[in-house]
Amino acid sequence: MIKAIRGTRDLLPPDTALWNFVEGVVRDVMRTYNFQEIRTPIFEATELFARGVGEETDIVAKEMYTWEDRSRAASEKGQSLTLRPENTAGVVRAYIEHKLWDRGLNKLYYIGPQFRRERPQKGRYRQFYQIGAEVIGPASSGSESPARDAEVLEMLATLLDRLGITEWNLELNSVGSSQERVKFNEALRKALEPVKDKMCADCQRRATTNPLRVLDCKVPEDQPIIEALPRITDYLEEDSRKHFEAVKEILTKVGVPFTLNSRLVRGLDYYTRTAFEFTHGALGAQNAILGGGRYDGLSEALGGPAAPGIGFAIGEDRLVMSLQEKSSADSVLRKPDVYIAAMAGMNGEAARLARELRRHDLVVELGDDGFRLKKSFEAATKAGAKYILIVGENEVNSGSFALKNLATGEQISVPRTDLPQKIRS
Ligand code: AMP
Repeated sequence: MIKAIRGTRDLLPPDTALWNFVEGVVRDVMRTYNFQEIRTPIFEATELFARGVGEETDIVAKEMYTWEDRSRAASEKGQSLTLRPENTAGVVRAYIEHKLWDRGLNKLYYIGPQFRRERPQKGRYRQFYQIGAEVIGPASSGSESPARDAEVLEMLATLLDRLGITEWNLELNSVGSSQERVKFNEALRKALEPVKDKMCADCQRRATTNPLRVLDCKVPEDQPIIEALPRITDYLEEDSRKHFEAVKEILTKVGVPFTLNSRLVRGLDYYTRTAFEFTHGALGAQNAILGGGRYDGLSEALGGPAAPGIGFAIGEDRLVMSLQEKSSADSVLRKPDVYIAAMAGMNGEAARLARELRRHDLVVELGDDGFRLKKSFEAATKAGAKYILIVGENEVNSGSFALKNLATGEQISVPRTDLPQKIRS
């Protein structure tokens, strides 16, 4: 028996309707904010992620699916390739490769699978799906403006509200420019020196390799030590402070609530200034539905021109999970409006009628003329159809059909031309 690989899963009906609902709402919302879709390959050169996400991050250090891709001719060199663990690096690569700065400000979104070798658990998979967006362009296009940060955050609040997810919490921080981060990292390293031996093994390693990551630690015994560490807020210089103030001011003005969290640093190295996460109470341990922030130096780190940007990635798996907890999810699933039961020899006539009704955008389930009537009723009930329509020789000749409401048991005789309207009502 061959099974799906651990950490991957099949998405089956009726859940797929929920996924399509989410993606439909996303596309609608993106359109009103004038974002356009981009699709990048699901595998890229390994170096893109090493440089773009950061060698010291958990993602690059431990979680990537990487292989040496042999070329066909022995004379050609092989290449190290990686299944994308996130999509921002790929979008910025495409920005550079296609000189998208010629278009001014780019507002792009994507929906697609990402791959990380994490320990699978509820809400955490090795193939998972992200819905993300990136606002990127030369500084002259306004890409650095706090108005963009606030617009992205307000869009996310709107999106979650439109999906009916109300119990979200926006956690906000500024992680400073890369220069401020260098100073803060130094301060952290110094402050960690005398205490790191009392911390968990991960923190001991991070204290030298990437002190910022220590702030992410969830080990309870480490928390009092972390609470006493320096705060990024004290290392922001005037520009960054002003930028952050402006973002908060706009959010307050448009009525998007947020909580400040000076320990929020996010798992990727490229973030600068605004960093954020939306969490959701009903999700349990894996409660982050989405995360994002500004990445003003990423394009340059990948060999491109200066191109400030801000973006986010929503975990679509978790978004769907939080919808599943709601009873409103049922309304997304469209059951058949009508089940057509064909009497003996009437498959052709039944198919003709089905074709007519489907042209009226009705959802039609079609049986088989070999079924006895009892079996047709059972099949119609199992499919959740609202009506059953009987197509026999008499009905076709008289042009009048028996239509039975499966919930109430009421049966009426309906002329052919009135069927679409009657079934819809
Ligand atoms: P990140 O790219 O790590 O900032 O993650 C952004 C969002 O993607 C998170 O808030 C999660 O909702 C989702 N996510 C990240 N990793 C996983 C995973 N292994 N399984 C499911 N969702 C994930």
